[in-house]
Amino acid sequence: MLSLIRRKACKRCGGDLSIECDIYGVYIECIQCGATWNKEDLKLASQLQNAVKATNQVKVA
Ligand SMILES: [Zn+2]
Repeated sequence: MLSLIRRKACKRCGGDLSIECDIYGVYIECIQCGATWNKEDLKLASQLQNAVKATNQVKVA
């Protein structure tokens, strides 16, 4: 599920990242190169958690 984009945040290619979540948890995938990261990789834990909370609230509502 495409939920949120962080622009130019990929550490591999500098591409845009899509924050995804599934039954296994939250991960971040680069749209340009397909690299996947976890939130620890990108030091965005608090931002991501907030984003996921917001996304979940939207899904529920
Ligand atoms: Zn990339």
